[in-house]
This record gives sequence, structure tokens and C-alpha cells, in this order.
Amino acid sequence: MTRDTHDEARALIALGEALSDAQQIWLWAHLQDCATCRDYAQVADRVVRALRSLPVAADTRLVRATQMRVRFHASRLRETRERMWLVGMACLGVGLSATLTVPLLWRLFAWMGAWAGVSNAVWQTGFACFWIAPALVVSVLLLARGTHLTNHEQGSRR
Ligand SMILES: [Zn+2]
Repeated sequence: MTRDTHDEARALIALGEALSDAQQIWLWAHLQDCATCRDYAQVADRVVRALRSLPVAADTRLVRATQMRVRFHASRLRETRERMWLVGMACLGVGLSATLTVPLLWRLFAWMGAWAGVSNAVWQTGFACFWIAPALVVSVLLLARGTHLTNHEQGSRR
């Protein structure tokens, strides 16, 4: 076998799957007889396989990382919106209830003060406490909800 034969065999191996039937038969016959080119073919095959699997692995990792990043941002956005909505509703609720109930409550407390025979300062203090109570309850609930969201957030980040 001449040196040209081995070179031709290696050139065909490098071509890989783009061989004609005649070239494949010739190469197969040469590889049966030539251990050097057989080794070369094996190494080439391994390299080709490694190169083929590389982009796939990178793609999968990239896709997974992108998906995780998108999911993380989506959940952050949802939590922020949820919190803003809660704060907005709480403010609206407190504002509405105050506007609607203050005049009525004021009259009720004035009537109860007169009925119990206490001074104006006493029933007015009672009114103030009663009026502040819902705002306090809402604040505590909001605080608890906010803490819950923060804990949840930290949990998902871990
Ligand atoms: Zn050879």
C-alpha cells in the first residue's frame, strides 16, 4: 500500500457520511487491512460524536437557565403586583369605611355619651379608639401578609 492510499482513506474518513457507495466499499476494504487507518477512523468517529453532542448539551443548559430566569422574574412580578393590589385595596377599604362610618359613629358615640352621662372628652376618646381599631387591624393583617410573602420569596430563592 502506498502512502497515497492511506491519505485517500483518511480524506474519506474526514468526509464522514458524505461518501458514495463505491467510496464506502473501498474505505471499508482498506480499513480491514490497515490498522493505522482503522485507529484513525475510530478517533475521528469519537471526535465527530463529541462535537455533535456538545451543542446539544450547551443548548439544553442555556434553555434551562433561560427558563429559570424567566420564571423567577415572572414570580417576582406577580408577587410585587399582588402586594401592590393588597396595599391598594386596604387603603381603599380604610378610606371608604372611614368616610361612611365616621359621621354615623360620631353621632352614636355622642348619643351613648349623653346616655351614660360621661363628659365629652370620654366619649370622644372612645370614638377615637374605635375609629383607629380597623386601621390597626388592617395594618397588622397587611404586615403579616407582607411577612408571609417575604418568607415565601426567600424560600423559593433557596
Ligand atoms: Zn491505511
